[in-house]
Amino acid sequence: MEAVGERGNLARVGHILLVLSGKGGVGKSTVSTELALALRHAGKKVGILDVDLCGPSIPQMLKVQGKGVHQCDSGWVPVFVDQDKSISLMSIGFLLEKPDDAVVWRGPKKNALIKQFISDVTWGDLDFLIVDTPPGTSDEHISTVESLRPYKPLGAVLVTTPQAVSIGDVRRELMFCKKTGLRVIGIVENMSGFVCPHCLECTNLFSKGGGEELARHAGVPFLGCVPLDPQLTQSLEEGRDFIQEFPKSSAFPALAHIAQQI
Ligand code: ADP
Repeated sequence: MEAVGERGNLARVGHILLVLSGKGGVGKSTVSTELALALRHAGKKVGILDVDLCGPSIPQMLKVQGKGVHQCDSGWVPVFVDQDKSISLMSIGFLLEKPDDAVVWRGPKKNALIKQFISDVTWGDLDFLIVDTPPGTSDEHISTVESLRPYKPLGAVLVTTPQAVSIGDVRRELMFCKKTGLRVIGIVENMSGFVCPHCLECTNLFSKGGGEELARHAGVPFLGCVPLDPQLTQSLEEGRDFIQEFPKSSAFPALAHIAQQI
């Protein structure tokens, strides 16, 4: 029997990595977006599949909200973020009539769309496909993993904030990875301290080090601490390229270092 990987739209995709978090709002879409930008600046071709169906924020973070996806003979053509087509994006945000429309769907409909995204988007040649998932470990995660697994081995990047409540949820994510056979690429601790732009002193608003300690206990790599950085917030709000425009800002070194380990 012909292997799925020899014929599907994912046949020419190098690595697939899922970005997971236990909670919403910890910076999962931020990490997905900035990883894509950092990899692109390292000369890689990157696709982003946004399966956070109820909170698709990546189109805005990359300033392509309102664009439409087109159909071709072999499926959906993703939206290209830049002129040289080195970042492509597929998101439910492109299929909604209005950007503020809510997706009020039951599980089976969401799972069907995820399967369609995975089989029908014409990615072409990619070094990396980054999959931004919803928070938690839901039906949508199982659908995503089951639909992608026949194509390639999958890796997972887990994002947490330093607080104990967020760390507890990441333990559940680690269990999910173990049960579904996802290789854990590593844990990112986001919103890890705030560096004052005036005196450069770091204040640990949400404590610090929980992500690293969890990684050590779980025996998985720790990828780095990303501080709270107002220039990062601003770039994401305005859909600017943080990696290119703010190399001196406090979050830049951590994000660049994380991308190198992917
Ligand atoms: P999630 O995908 O986990 O729900 P987001 O990536 O959407 O979270 O991030 C939530 C908000 O926090 C966004 O508005 C984003 O701009 C901001 N944010 C995330 N990480 C940082 C950071 N390190 N510094 C500053 N703002 C951040």
